[in-house]
Amino acid sequence: MRLIIVSNRLPFTVVEKEGELYFKESVGGLASSLRAYTDYLKTSGETDYLWVGWPEIALDDESLKEKLKSKAFSEFHAYPVFFSEKTMEKFYHGFCNRTLWPLFHYFPSYAIYDEDYWQHYRLVNEAFRDAITEIAGPNDMIWVHDYHLLLLPRLIREEMPENPVGFFLHTPFPSYEIFRLLPGKWRKELLEGLLGADLIGFHTHDYTEYFLRCVLRILGYDHEMGEFIGEGRIVKADTFPMGIDFRRFYHSMRNPEVKREKAKVKRTLTDSKVILSVDRLDYTKGILNRLQAYEMFLDCNPQWHKKVILVLVVVPSRTGVEHYQQMKRQIDEIVGGINGRFSSLDWTPILYQYTSLPFHSLAAHYSVSDVALITPLRDGMNLIAKEYVATRKDGRGVLILSEMAGASQELGEAITINPNNKEEIAEALKQALEMPREEQVRRIQIMQRRLEQYDVVRWGEDFLSHLLSVKEAQNRFDAKIIGPDIREQLIRDYEKAKRRAIFLDYDGTLVPLAWHAEWAKPGDETLSLIKSLSQDPKTEVVLISGRDKNTLQKWFGGLSIDLVAEHGAWIREKNEDWKLIRPLSAEWKSQLLPMLKRYADRVPGSFVEVKDFSVAWHYRRSEPGLASIRAKELTDDLIHFAANVDIQVLQGSKVVEVGSGGVNKGAAAMHLISKGTFDFILAVGDDWTDEDLFKALPETAYSIRVGLTSSHAKFNLHDHTEVIQLLEQLTKTIEYRKRRFPWLTRVFGKRSPNSL
Ligand code: UDP
Repeated sequence: MRLIIVSNRLPFTVVEKEGELYFKESVGGLASSLRAYTDYLKTSGETDYLWVGWPEIALDDESLKEKLKSKAFSEFHAYPVFFSEKTMEKFYHGFCNRTLWPLFHYFPSYAIYDEDYWQHYRLVNEAFRDAITEIAGPNDMIWVHDYHLLLLPRLIREEMPENPVGFFLHTPFPSYEIFRLLPGKWRKELLEGLLGADLIGFHTHDYTEYFLRCVLRILGYDHEMGEFIGEGRIVKADTFPMGIDFRRFYHSMRNPEVKREKAKVKRTLTDSKVILSVDRLDYTKGILNRLQAYEMFLDCNPQWHKKVILVLVVVPSRTGVEHYQQMKRQIDEIVGGINGRFSSLDWTPILYQYTSLPFHSLAAHYSVSDVALITPLRDGMNLIAKEYVATRKDGRGVLILSEMAGASQELGEAITINPNNKEEIAEALKQALEMPREEQVRRIQIMQRRLEQYDVVRWGEDFLSHLLSVKEAQNRFDAKIIGPDIREQLIRDYEKAKRRAIFLDYDGTLVPLAWHAEWAKPGDETLSLIKSLSQDPKTEVVLISGRDKNTLQKWFGGLSIDLVAEHGAWIREKNEDWKLIRPLSAEWKSQLLPMLKRYADRVPGSFVEVKDFSVAWHYRRSEPGLASIRAKELTDDLIHFAANVDIQVLQGSKVVEVGSGGVNKGAAAMHLISKGTFDFILAVGDDWTDEDLFKALPETAYSIRVGLTSSHAKFNLHDHTEVIQLLEQLTKTIEYRKRRFPWLTRVFGKRSPNSL
């Protein structure tokens, strides 16, 4: 199995000079960390990989393209996807960095919603799809990265339905309130795009939760422990905080180049305490706040003048976007202002570098800095924070970290600050500079242990092994879905049976779940299907439902079938009257009703249904987030109440139902089964209340759960349409046989087969 890594950028950039191509390592969190993971793959030799991405160069010359391709493949295991400058302008600087980036980092006022950008975003995602379908084999595992390629998993899935596809988001995933700012069509398409992946990974639990909430609110898929069924497949969202190449940073002083660089940097910094600030130039990084907080620190702490230096490294980034250019000007001004105010002949409070540092220089800077000041306003992870901690083999150094960075969830021993609070940052600087040595060591070492244990290799392996387990879960599920073989067997057993019992739930099984209960009234086709099944004298059809008996009587009373209402409280056997399965009391109802009504009042769209021996609180039409919290609360209240009364609480699909203890579909079914000898039993249902039925049936029975949920049923079908198809197949089998063998009419009575 080969791993195909897909990211917008390749781990290198290419420049062309006079027909020659020059390759250079890309900087940035995604590229450097993933490169560390692929380096591991290369040395371990266990998994072959190929990295697909954009080489950051537009080439017209086909021979140069071929040259680039061949070098990328042989030297970097890479496969370049080429785009024109215009396309990249609208895709990368457009939709990616002017729409998604600001929104995902909670800067909605910076976001631009431009249809042309959107079209280019689709176009580029499609081009990546084409590249992958060209190179990927049937067993390849495909791992797509980051916000540039949100549509890609689905596009790949459409072409290569069997390949494991994972997706990892390196930015935050915003809350629903922010995500919904995207035009309806786009936000739906983006989520559907992601759902093409089998596993979707995020840096923090919060991002995973926000994503799952968007999936629920926008696509209507509810999840259980991060797992949900999206378009007939199990999809999982989970948290995998990205690690770093811990050993590379921890042992960086073994590298002579780093050592040399460290000595050089130390000479420049004299004996001052050093505060380090390194980021890409980005408005999300909070560089301006940081500078203002440093100024405040200097104002409030004259004792630190001439004893401290802020080394400010700003890495050029997205130079074409206006917000970045504006920010650069602001940084220049503030740095100039602070240095102008506080500098003396022998001291400059800020050493400012607008450049990108190579590894050896970066590691040297980490190792000489007493404090790392990292204050993003919002950051998916922030690897700089982790790298700083890892480099401090001597245990010295203090990390000041914004609580808005994903990394803060793992680096609890840092001094955590709110980046909007300059006083807090200034205070933190003082605390950090004055922190006793033992305390620094204690904090750094705890964080180092954590970073060492979950480094980038563990992160990658963890994600990919989870991806394979989702795939296995899908396969287990697929095995339960009724395919041609099981269907044929079922039909054969049905045909040769002497006496059959068919238990059919109604809502969600024979008809789709309806917004209003009364809208689910059966149409002529449903009625005639049940009629056809029941007209075979060998077959007993039992409609077994949670509905009240009056509704069942009104809708199905004319059919010659058994009816079971209120999940088994009432039974109407063929040609008989309704009767209770056993003597039941409903005195508890009056005590419970006020509680349920209170919930109905608190949750808009929900309502209480009162039946003879049960009451139900329905919340199908309510806002799902609030309603599911209230449903849990109600269930808790009810379980408390049930301690002294003989009742049971059932959690159905968007309904909490309370009924008499011991009454359930399983007990009702067994009551009917005990009246005959059945050599073919089929039960179909879609709800948790049908699980009692599946559990109670004999081992030989065919039990089918509608929907892809784990169940006690032996088999699954995707939805009610497949149930109808299956039942139709059963009736057609008989009709066909009757037409071919007219003597069979005797078995079915005097009616002609056509009248059935
Ligand atoms: N980096 C670098 N040289 C620099 C500054 C940063 O190589 O001058 C690397 C750094 O080692 C880190 C990455 O760029 O791995 C920055 O990742 P981070 O998650 O902090 O920020 P991002 O750029 O992804 O927003």
